[in-house]
Amino acid sequence: MTDSAIHDVVVIGGGLAGLAAANKAAESGLRVAVLEQGTEELYLCNTRITAGVFHVARETMLDPPEELRRRIEAATCGYSQPSLADALAKDSARTLEWLQQQGVRFVKANLSGKMRNMLAPPSVRQPGLNNWKGRAGDVMLRTLGTRLKEQSGTLLRGVRATELLMRNGICTGVLAVSGGENMRFECSAVVIADGGFQVNPEMVRQHISPAPERVMRRNAGTGFGDGARMAQAAGAKLTGLNRFYGHLLYRDAMENDRFWPYPTLDFLASGAIVVDAEARRFVDEGYGGTHIANAVAALADPLGATIIFDSPIWNGPGRDYDLPPNPHVTNAGGKLVEAQTLEGLAQKLGIPAEALQRTVSDYNANLAQGALDKLSPPRSAHQFKPWPIVAPPFLAMHVCAGLTYTMGGIATDEHGRVLRDDGLPISGLYAAGSSTGGLEGGECSGYAGGLAKAAVFGLRAGECIGRSAKDGVPVAAPR
Ligand SMILES: Cc1cc2nc3c(=O)[nH]c(=O)nc-3n(C[C@H](O)[C@H](O)[C@H](O)COP(=O)(O)OP(=O)(O)OC[C@H]3O[C@@H](n4cnc5c(N)ncnc54)[C@H](O)[C@@H]3O)c2cc1C
Repeated sequence: MTDSAIHDVVVIGGGLAGLAAANKAAESGLRVAVLEQGTEELYLCNTRITAGVFHVARETMLDPPEELRRRIEAATCGYSQPSLADALAKDSARTLEWLQQQGVRFVKANLSGKMRNMLAPPSVRQPGLNNWKGRAGDVMLRTLGTRLKEQSGTLLRGVRATELLMRNGICTGVLAVSGGENMRFECSAVVIADGGFQVNPEMVRQHISPAPERVMRRNAGTGFGDGARMAQAAGAKLTGLNRFYGHLLYRDAMENDRFWPYPTLDFLASGAIVVDAEARRFVDEGYGGTHIANAVAALADPLGATIIFDSPIWNGPGRDYDLPPNPHVTNAGGKLVEAQTLEGLAQKLGIPAEALQRTVSDYNANLAQGALDKLSPPRSAHQFKPWPIVAPPFLAMHVCAGLTYTMGGIATDEHGRVLRDDGLPISGLYAAGSSTGGLEGGECSGYAGGLAKAAVFGLRAGECIGRSAKDGVPVAAPR
């Protein structure tokens, strides 16, 4: 066992949440080390490959806090913990400013709306994961890494945290492994920022999908759920584990890198209907692609889902958004299943024809009568317009669920302090970013924004640690 140099703060994970917390704590003169399991200089993580759109609930982070708060509430159907939603709404603009002070650069892809703050140089949306170098998240991580060094902080690559050191209910450090060697880090505050549990098959099976091997890993492959496991062993509460942020992808994305992370089939599916292997609807398509992807992953066979539509939908919502499936899926070699009748379509898909005809005619009839809420499951229309499926040829596309990051995780308060089941903070233990739960998810799989969540709560955790140290309170003490 190697004892490390003395640190005040140890951060687990070198993504945006970890580097925001580390840099902010270092501003207070604290000695900070970031442990990063990746060995490469440009170690992969979700931040490194992000598209780089800083937004709150899919709109600009620069709107007034009351507007952001209202939007988070609407996007999450009221699921979000009020204290977390308040903090995100209140600190969004300030966090962007702070990132800019660290040297992170943004461009405006639009003067308003979601694309108002994109990382510079902007990412390029193309099929395949081959264009992140020198762009967006990669440049931001290099900038924050350099800033940490300037503040005498250390980023240790190839070090995987395995266990929290606890004494009398207080977190006092971290055990880790590096190149087969055990390491011990004693400190006054630990920040867990390991990015979620999306590549932990047991946890995904327990909480998200009965068949994790049939869910597409639309992510960097680095979220093993170590943080949640370590925090739980230290007495932390975990919350909202059954939802993830992700998209619907063309099914061949399971084996073919040309079909992920883009194009996504979200808008196409949200204008149409999605059926299972029995030709039955199983989700309210009106809540959008992330919600549909969650429902697809939860099916007994997550690869048994198909979008059913007609050519007005294919040429309408099928062409919406950046890099839409029409024509990008077909250009990349994906197949549109096509037939003049629903019966013919069902035969080509290998699903029951009578059931498909009934599903489509019920949907069309309820849509015409303005009674979509009477369908089972109901179809909402406030976010995405439902289109009738009436104009032959009838079309279909096979989909899979692309899991980007898990929305649930370690319960924290608005300062990033990790909470026990009884709601009290665990002294010395903080968490931020995709390792945490309580802000996103719920019945409608509400998405608040992965980068905003990582940056705002990383910054807040670093600030809380700095404040505690300044007040002379041991960094770890509850306030
Ligand atoms: C393709 C793609 C596009 C996206 N586009 C957007 C977008 O446009 N807008 C948006 O808001 N969000 C987007 N996101 C989501 C966003 O990028 C993430 O939510 C955010 O970057 C998460 O940051 P994080 O620091 O919490 O996690 P990560 O960036 O994943 O960092 C976690 C780090 O912890 C390390 N780690 C894990 N376990 C350990 C351990 N035991 N010990 C040491 N280190 C460990 C990992 O190696 C990793 O480096 C996108 C994600 C992807 C994959």
